[in-house]
Amino acid sequence: MKWTQTLVPTLREAPADAEIPSHQLLLRAGLIRKLAGGVYTFLPLGLRTLRKIERIIREEMDRAGALEVAMPALQPPEIWEASGRAQTAGDVLFKLKDSTGRQWFLSPTAEEVITTLAANEINSYRQLPKNFYQVSVKFRDEIRPRFGLMRAKEFIMKDAYSFDTTDEGAMASYQKMYDAYKRIFARCGLQSFPVEADTGVIGGSHSHEFMIPAATGENEVAYCEACGYAANIEKATSGIPKTAARELGAAVEKFSTPGVVSIEALAKEPYKVAANRQIKTLVYIADSKPVIILVRGDDQLNETKLMAKTGAIAARPATPEECVATLGAKPGSLGAVLNVPADVKVYADERLRGANDMATGANEDGFHLKNVSIERDIKVSEWFDLRTVNAGEPCGKCAKPLKIRRAIEVGHVFKLGTKYSAKLNATFLDADGARKPSVMGCYGIGVTRTLQAVVEQSNDKDGIVWPIAVAPYTVCITPLGVAPGSPAMTLAEKIYTELTARGVDVILDDRDERPGVKFKDADLVGFPIRVAIGEKGLAKGEVEVKPRNAPFQAVKAEDAVEAVMKLVNG
Ligand SMILES: [Zn+2]
Repeated sequence: MKWTQTLVPTLREAPADAEIPSHQLLLRAGLIRKLAGGVYTFLPLGLRTLRKIERIIREEMDRAGALEVAMPALQPPEIWEASGRAQTAGDVLFKLKDSTGRQWFLSPTAEEVITTLAANEINSYRQLPKNFYQVSVKFRDEIRPRFGLMRAKEFIMKDAYSFDTTDEGAMASYQKMYDAYKRIFARCGLQSFPVEADTGVIGGSHSHEFMIPAATGENEVAYCEACGYAANIEKATSGIPKTAARELGAAVEKFSTPGVVSIEALAKEPYKVAANRQIKTLVYIADSKPVIILVRGDDQLNETKLMAKTGAIAARPATPEECVATLGAKPGSLGAVLNVPADVKVYADERLRGANDMATGANEDGFHLKNVSIERDIKVSEWFDLRTVNAGEPCGKCAKPLKIRRAIEVGHVFKLGTKYSAKLNATFLDADGARKPSVMGCYGIGVTRTLQAVVEQSNDKDGIVWPIAVAPYTVCITPLGVAPGSPAMTLAEKIYTELTARGVDVILDDRDERPGVKFKDADLVGFPIRVAIGEKGLAKGEVEVKPRNAPFQAVKAEDAVEAVMKLVNG
C-alpha cells in the first residue's frame, strides 16, 4: 500500500476527551475516529489490525473444534423473558421498537439465541458435544461510555457457547476454551493471566477472566506470586484470621458518644475502640427490600459479593431516610442489636463469626453499645464472605502475602450448567432414552477491547509499538526523496515489491514530506520495522533497517529484504 493512497490522519495532539494512553494513541495514529460517545469508526489501518486479531481468534476457535455461525443482532424480547434475564440485564439492554410497535433488543450477547437454536436443532446425545461461536457487533446501553474502545456502546465481541451431555464433558469444553484463550492472547502479543471471577448476571458455577495488567484497567485483581492464586477482587478471598474471641463480657451496655458518626471517631480518644473491635452496620436496598449488612470496622463491604452470595439482582446503599425507616437511625449510629424489624434480613461477614466484646451503633444519635457478642446479641440471618481483601493479607492457599494490581478484562469463560438449557428447553435424548438439558458453557472475548489493550500494554513516548502479528503493516518503507524514478524511490519500490511477494504487509511512505515528519508518523502508528532510504546511505549503497523498539542497522541495499525477513521471522 502507498501511504498517499490510503488514509492515515495522524494528529500531533490527542483530543481532550481521550483519557488513557491507548485511547489517545488510537486517535493520534489515525486508527479510529469517534462518531459519538462510545461509538467509533475504524479507519483503514485500524481495521487491518482488527481483522488480524479476528483472524487469530477464528484460527484458534476452529482449532479447538468450535463451529462458526452468525446470529442476528436483533433479538425478540420473548427469549429473554423465557431465560429470566429481561430483568437482570435490563440496564444494559438496547431496546427499540419497529414500525408496528413490536419491541426488539440489540444483542449484547447471545445465550438466548443459541440456546433456542439448540432447542430446535439438537435432539440426540449423538449430536453432542457442540461449540458454536461468532464474531459480531454487540451493543450495551452504557450510561457512561469511556476510554475509547474499552467501554463502548457498540463493540465487537467473539462469543462462543458449548453444549455437552454431562458435567465432565462441559468441563472439558471449558478447558479447551481456556487453553484457546491463552493461545489467542499470546499470539496477539499480550501478557494475559487468567483469574477466578464472579459469574455475575450471566450466572453459572465456574468462571475465569483473562486479564491484561494495566495501571488504567477498570478491574482489580488479587494475586499470589508464590502459588499462582489469582482472582478478581470481586471474588478474591484470603487467609486472614477471624476476629479474635475474647472473654464473653457482661450484658450489652449503652454508652454516650456525642457527635461520633464514624468508625475512626470511635477509635479515637476518649473511646479508643479499635476499628477491629467495632461492627460496621450498613443498610442496603437489595431488589427493593432493605437488608442489614455487618462487616468488621476495618473491613469494606464488597457489593459484588453481596449480590453473588444473596442472589440479589440489584443492590445499592440505602439513603439516610431509608436507614431511618429501617432502623430508626441515620448512618453513623446504626447497629443490629436493637430495633431490627423481624422481616429484615441481617447478613454478617464470616470474619465476625464468634466475635465478642465488640462495639456497634445503638440506633440512637450520640450512643453506641459495647460488650456486644455477635452470636449472642444479634440475630444473624446468614453468614457470608462479604469483605474485600487487601494487599498484604495472607494468601488463602499458601499464606504468603497477596498483592493487588489493576487490569483490563479481555476475555471471560463461564461454565453455565443447565441454567439456560432448562429454561429454553435445549434438551437431548440420552443413550438411556431419558430427556436431559444440555450442560452449557459460554465464552467471550472483547475483540475491539483486546485491540486497545494491545496498545495500552505496548507503547512508548513516540507512539504505539505493535507486535508483528497484529500490526496494521509490518514494514514501513520511507524513501527520503519520492520523485518518480529517483534512486531512492526506485529502490523503495523494488524492496516493496519483493517483500510483498514474500507475503509481508508493507506500506510505502510516498508522501512528499520532510524526513522528520515521516519518521514521527511511522513511530506514532508503530510499524514494527522501518526501512529508511536516504541519499547519503544510497551513495554508499546502504539502507537503514530499524525495528520499532531497537536501534537501526545499516545494511547493503541488496541485503535489505533478507534483513527484514530475518526480523519478521523473529
Ligand atoms: Zn499463595
